[in-house]
Amino acid sequence: MMELLEVNHLRVAFSEGNKDYCAVNDISFTLGEKEVLGIVGESGCGKSITAQTLVGIQHPKAKILSGSVKLRGKELLHQTEDEWSKIRGKEISMIFQEPMTALNPLMSVGRQIQEVLWVHGLAKEKNQKEITLKMMEDVGLRDVEELYNSYPHELSGGMRQRIMIAMALIANPKMLIADEPTTALDATIQAQILRLFNRMKEAYEGSVIFISHDLEVVASICHRVIVMYAGRIVEIGSADELLSHPCHPYTFGLLRAIPSYKMRGKRLYNIPGTLPPLAERNFTGCPFCDRCEKKMKICFEVFPKPFERGNRTVYCHLFGEENHG
Ligand code: SF4
Repeated sequence: MMELLEVNHLRVAFSEGNKDYCAVNDISFTLGEKEVLGIVGESGCGKSITAQTLVGIQHPKAKILSGSVKLRGKELLHQTEDEWSKIRGKEISMIFQEPMTALNPLMSVGRQIQEVLWVHGLAKEKNQKEITLKMMEDVGLRDVEELYNSYPHELSGGMRQRIMIAMALIANPKMLIADEPTTALDATIQAQILRLFNRMKEAYEGSVIFISHDLEVVASICHRVIVMYAGRIVEIGSADELLSHPCHPYTFGLLRAIPSYKMRGKRLYNIPGTLPPLAERNFTGCPFCDRCEKKMKICFEVFPKPFERGNRTVYCHLFGEENHG
């Protein structure tokens, strides 16, 4: 069966002077129909650039070096802005971390949601407002008639994020990308929005890519999780497997850094060191070698081949042929 999304050997770089630095380095993955796939990693590991590439938004200094991104077999890379405007909102939608930067401050929130229907000609004009109000109710907003005429600055952060979710889902797109959708919210609202995601994913017919720096959050709503580090995918597995048996030392470190009841009173683990800046990364060996407590000589010289077992893929020399021959 054809996957909904197929990403193959994607490389995206930032140019500085006459040099290119790979921020997304040779990543490949698939997204199934109705699958919820998480991408997790520290800030700067390439998650958001991956997401932006999938939705055709590019930083002015970023450029796609190679690879392919296919949605139901149709190549998405190198589409014109005109073509993207037909795809965005209708086939692929995105929810951003800070809705205030994505919403138009001069247009009422109801009109902004309704505009998605209008732009893509998705319903008769006389029905569009009714569909919009229903969508607003579906994402847990109350007094929607009144709210329809409100402006983004009049709403709380949680309500604005619900408006973004309504906008993203109203056209029932094939794929929704949520880029750190709860990070800017306080803990209580964060929990409410996560509950909403969990509820909506049952009703929604498309697939979701959910991006976060928080492995526990990602694992709570995703079927499968990709762990990224320094522009590379380092591990892919089912959410359950990854939480119960992390293989890659970086995934293991992320898990140990999650506060848990068992750890109460103990100092939280911190992965030693920091993510190296783009210009100082090891682009030939394992990008995690400077911080890894299990590194070997080969780790500095060769990027590990994928080690596959069942649904798990790990890029680490600890699992290479020389150790499992
Ligand atoms: Fe550590 Fe080497 Fe595995 Fe990288 S490849 S995570 S440095 S053991």
